Amino acid sequence: MKLYSTNNQSLKVDFATAVFNSMPLDKGLYMPVNIPELDKEFIDNIDQFSLSQIAFKVASVLLKDAMPLEDLQSIIDDAINFEAPVVPLDGNTGVLELFHGPSLAFKDFGARFMSRIMAYFLKDNQKTLDVLVATSGDTGGAVALGFLGVPNTRVTILYPKGKVSEIQELQLCTNGQNIHAIEVDGTFDDCQALVKQAFADETLNARLRLTSANSINISRLIPQTFYYFNAYAQLKRQGKDEVVFSVPSGNFGNIAAGLLAYKMGLPVKQFIAATNVNDTIPRFLETGIYETKPSIQTYSNAMDVGAPSNWVRIMDLFKNDKAALQQIVKSYSFTDQETLKGINELYEQFNYIACPHTAIAWLALEKYKAENPDGNYAGVFLSTAHACKFPDIFPEAIKANIEVPDQVKDLLAKPKKAEQMSTDYEAFKGYLLRY
Ligand SMILES: *Cc1c(COP(=O)(O)O)cnc(C)c1O
Repeated sequence: MKLYSTNNQSLKVDFATAVFNSMPLDKGLYMPVNIPELDKEFIDNIDQFSLSQIAFKVASVLLKDAMPLEDLQSIIDDAINFEAPVVPLDGNTGVLELFHGPSLAFKDFGARFMSRIMAYFLKDNQKTLDVLVATSGDTGGAVALGFLGVPNTRVTILYPKGKVSEIQELQLCTNGQNIHAIEVDGTFDDCQALVKQAFADETLNARLRLTSANSINISRLIPQTFYYFNAYAQLKRQGKDEVVFSVPSGNFGNIAAGLLAYKMGLPVKQFIAATNVNDTIPRFLETGIYETKPSIQTYSNAMDVGAPSNWVRIMDLFKNDKAALQQIVKSYSFTDQETLKGINELYEQFNYIACPHTAIAWLALEKYKAENPDGNYAGVFLSTAHACKFPDIFPEAIKANIEVPDQVKDLLAKPKKAEQMSTDYEAFKGYLLRY
């Protein structure tokens, strides 16, 4: 697979380069030069395949010239070792649960695949890869657990003190081995500024091999296509083949992967981009005007993004054809009040406890259904995280019924270890050079 920059189509790199750079120097995003299509026979018979078989087929079509297929197979088997079931709520509504990985959020798909791809392309005699990540919550946990124990890598995670949930913090601070957590007395933006400054620092770059594991890395996007194909396979087994996907969206990586799957031949009737009041994309699809805003804090904080970084990828997939995009992607936004109402309704109607991000995807699906009452399509909303990661949002009666998975109970027993730091860059730099 060759990739170009969305800012310069004549700049072409191979997959390994795109993975280690994360972002081209011209600040575009890497996109495949060609989007390969899956053969029709595979799509027609997809209901006969498992998640692991589907993942291998999709990945091999994209990455066949990047590595021997047996190596790709073992990376997939190691990375995607948990399920992504479509759980039915009623006859034509299902929830695609993406939180069965180690960090209990869908970001495990991207982070686990990326970490193994990076380790694979690292040569034995090369410097340790230093991964720096700033997190507002979910990314850090997925990256930490994704890289935990991966040889030749060392991960430093910066998170804002007092601004992540207890479980999120434990996922960052209880790993040991090659994972280091830094608790910054500041905001997420401060954490991000420290990381950015490190990447631009010549002395550091001369000493360390730095890479960022952020959500724009192309190796995070690819594995996220797998679960769309696999959801379609599950629906087909139930005799359904018209599907509407509702995706809770912040940086728009998840839905970009869905649209990539669509371009590769996955039959999808409609995508819905569900957002909180950070509504840059719903406004754009409504008015055709792209206008970013500073982000607003909400209950669904993993989606508090005013300038979604993956949107250029989506425009690129559609060759900037706004009309075509407006057809295939509908978008709705919801307030915190509505999010709470959604959480309550899901609980009352289906006895289902959804995290706030997931509740927004359900609300958007319901809105779409009300506007499109005809047709026998299956509506699937994506559940991006387990409810136990956001306990403070829930009314007491629901909170008491959240089932805490065993792996979380284990976390609670482990000692927490984090380096305390101010927002002073020199202190952070000293820390990186010291260890
Ligand atoms: C990251 C995240 C999102 C947003 O996903 P994008 O790919 O950035 O659109 C939604 N929900 C949860 C729980 C997340 O962690």
